[in-house]
Amino acid sequence: MKTLRLILGDQLNQKHSWFESVDKNMVYLMAEMRQETDYVKHHIQKVTAFFQAMRNFHQELSEKGHCFIYLKINDPENPQNLDQILPKYIDITEAAKFEYQLPDEYRLDLQIKTICSNLSVESNVVDTEHFFTSRYELKNFFSGKKTLVMESFYRMMRKKHGILMMNDQPEGGQWNFDKSNRKKWNGEPEIPHERGFRKDVSAILDEIEKAGIQTFGTIEAENLSWPTCRADCLSALNYFCKHLLVHFGDFQDALHTEEKFLFHSRLSFAMNSKMISPKEVIDKVLEHYYAHRDEIHISQIEGFTRQILGWREYMRGMYWKEMPEYATLNELKNENPLPDFFWTGETKMNCLKHSIGQSLENAYAHHIQRLMIIGNFALLCQVDPQLVDAWYLGVYIDAIEWVELMNTRGMSQFADGGLVATKPYVSSANYINKMGNYCSECHYQHTKKTGKKACPFNALYWNFLDEKKEFFIHNQRMNMMMSLLQKKNTEELKALKKRAKEIISNPNQY
Ligand SMILES: Cc1cc2nc3c(=O)[nH]c(=O)nc-3n(C[C@H](O)[C@H](O)[C@H](O)COP(=O)(O)OP(=O)(O)OC[C@H]3O[C@@H](n4cnc5c(N)ncnc54)[C@H](O)[C@@H]3O)c2cc1C
Ligand code: SF4
Repeated sequence: MKTLRLILGDQLNQKHSWFESVDKNMVYLMAEMRQETDYVKHHIQKVTAFFQAMRNFHQELSEKGHCFIYLKINDPENPQNLDQILPKYIDITEAAKFEYQLPDEYRLDLQIKTICSNLSVESNVVDTEHFFTSRYELKNFFSGKKTLVMESFYRMMRKKHGILMMNDQPEGGQWNFDKSNRKKWNGEPEIPHERGFRKDVSAILDEIEKAGIQTFGTIEAENLSWPTCRADCLSALNYFCKHLLVHFGDFQDALHTEEKFLFHSRLSFAMNSKMISPKEVIDKVLEHYYAHRDEIHISQIEGFTRQILGWREYMRGMYWKEMPEYATLNELKNENPLPDFFWTGETKMNCLKHSIGQSLENAYAHHIQRLMIIGNFALLCQVDPQLVDAWYLGVYIDAIEWVELMNTRGMSQFADGGLVATKPYVSSANYINKMGNYCSECHYQHTKKTGKKACPFNALYWNFLDEKKEFFIHNQRMNMMMSLLQKKNTEELKALKKRAKEIISNPNQY
């Protein structure tokens, strides 16, 4: 009796217990599908990297003797959606049972559950064995608590998993070294050269073109620079430990025109596709840290651990706690269109030109570019979060809804009214200038608030605070901003708001 087992494109976990031994009665099904390439317009590198990683996974496990059905995008036998693929291949393989791993996206979870309820064979779902937490662990942890704070979840996770702990106390004497993670990078220390992969993906690109899949962004056919197999991922992880971890925490928030990646790991695609697990990543960086304690300060490793054990698991837990309503939230009632330059990078605002340009070129921007440059501008312009979400979901190599949505709609756009972030991440040019060198090469002057050469972020910032003050008046974390707003001279505020309105009505001119 055969069992058909589905593997989704972001379930490339070779270490899953499914693959511990070869069983000829297990048939694994993988499919490149239009339902996945078309639910949002994706960056070309994202579609290509997923197809390449899926094909590598299929090849490596087939070579180990596992039995696979793999449907390529242009396969005439490929119905392109799970609604048709699953019944068809259950029939063809004469499977008596269907099994799948818990999807991480609400959309797919619902779809597969619905399909299963109509199947003529028994179905069974198992864990992906990827995350530190189960789907509803965070929901249970916060049950009955009034406020949801990432820090309390993170501390629980540190204790539970014994990570950076000494006798129940945080190693280094404090839980969080966030305050020492805010250095500006001024050319020192030297950033090691990029760990690229230079994969020739021209064959896949031809297939994507032949299929007529609509994508955006750029790619070099012979130079895909993302890890697309387990060995690549492990090599990227080693590279991070050896060359980047030592300064990761210090320059986590830094911005620079010449350095796109700084000391960031670029492991998000490797983890989100599940080629490597967060536990493997944390175990490896801890091993490296303990072997090099005289060179690596605890603030570097704590900063990194917090992102993965803390934020990554927190976002996933919040997603399953809050979906499906979360995807429709727009508490600040923002309804403006997304500026056209989000699709071209053509703007005189140097910070946006670099951050968006790099996103279109590399399918990557680091956290502070996503949050404090691009997201900041979208929020200050009061763009409809639906449009912001679609852009973020399409553009980044690592964008999968469970993590993209919580970061974009929640942390960045405050559309959830403060569930994920306790205050909106908005700033004037002051912060951007403090953290990087974008302003020194900009058409606009970061110190000016009004006039043709004034930085647009300045007027937009005060206008935003004024227009949305009813939402923030009772938010203690906004007290300082609100009191500065109240102290603004009426004429000055009027001038700022006039300029902000001009920018919002025609952002593409700036
Ligand atoms: C508006 C916005 C949208 C984002 N969209 C995504 C997304 O679609 N997919 C995604 O994986 N991350 C997203 N992030 C979080 C973060 O920016 C990326 O994980 C990170 O930039 C990936 O690059 P890296 O691997 O070099 O990260 P590093 O800086 O090296 O950090 C290490 C790892 O920590 C994890 N991490 C760090 N911050 C977060 C976070 N806030 N939430 C979850 N995990 C985190 C990631 O797995 C990352 O690989 C978003 C952030 C913002 C502000
Ligand atoms: S001056 Fe304003 S627009 Fe120019 S880089 Fe600085 S913050 Fe960005």
